[in-house]
Amino acid sequence: MKTIGLIGGMSWESTSIYYRLLNQQTRNTLGGHHSAKILLSSVDFAEIEAFQRSNAWDKSADALINEAQRLEKAGADFMMIGTNTMHKVAKEVSDAISVPLIHIADATAERLLKDKISHVGLLGTRFTMSEPFYKERIESFGITVSVPPAWQQDVVHEVIYQELCQGEVSVHSRKQYLSIIDDLKALGAEGVILGCTEIGLLVQQNHTTVPLYDTTELHAEAAIKLALAE
Ligand code: GLU
Repeated sequence: MKTIGLIGGMSWESTSIYYRLLNQQTRNTLGGHHSAKILLSSVDFAEIEAFQRSNAWDKSADALINEAQRLEKAGADFMMIGTNTMHKVAKEVSDAISVPLIHIADATAERLLKDKISHVGLLGTRFTMSEPFYKERIESFGITVSVPPAWQQDVVHEVIYQELCQGEVSVHSRKQYLSIIDDLKALGAEGVILGCTEIGLLVQQNHTTVPLYDTTELHAEAAIKLALAE
C-alpha cells in the first residue's frame, strides 16, 4: 500500500471528511483492520485565507510547496491538496516535488466522463467559479462548464467561508444552494460539481434529483485507487 501525502486544514472541516473517507474506502476494499497510510500536514487556514483575500497567490504557493516537500521527505508516495481553490497553485506545488499530485479536477472530470456527462454546473469559492484554472481543467476533458451569475457566486462563496469552513450548517443556506443548483440545471447542466470540499456538509444527493459530484469523495476515491494499485 502506498503512503498518501495530504495537505489539509483548508479547512479542517473538510480534512476530517477526507480522513474518514480515505480510511473507509481502504477498509471497504481490503476488509479487516486495514486502514489508509496517510501523512497529513494540516495548515493554519487563517494564514492561507489571508493570502487568498490579498491576492498573494505566490505566498500561498510557497506555503503549500513547503508542506508538500515536508510530506515527500517524510515518505509520501504521492500528494493531494485537500481543497479545490488551492489547485490554483497546483502546478507550482507539483513542479516542486518529485512524486505525483492527484489533481482534484481530474478525478472529478474522469467520473463525469464515465457517467457520460457533457455539460456540468460548478459550485465552489468565487476563485474556483470565476477564474479559468478550474473550469478550463474540466473543459479540457471535453465537458462544458456553467457557473452561476455573479450575485449567486457571492452567495455560494460567503456561505463557504462564513459558515461551512467554520462548521456551521444552515437550512436557509441549503435552500439557497438548492435553488442555485436548479438554476444550473435550467441552463442545461446534467449534473453539478460540488467544487469545494466543504459543500458536502450542506448539500447531499438526497436533497435533490440533480446528480451531484462531490469533489471530496471523488478525490479520496482516486487517491485510494492509486494507493492500493499493485
Ligand atoms: N475547501 C474549499 C475548496 O475546496 C475552500 C477553502 C479554501 O479556500 O481552500 O475550495
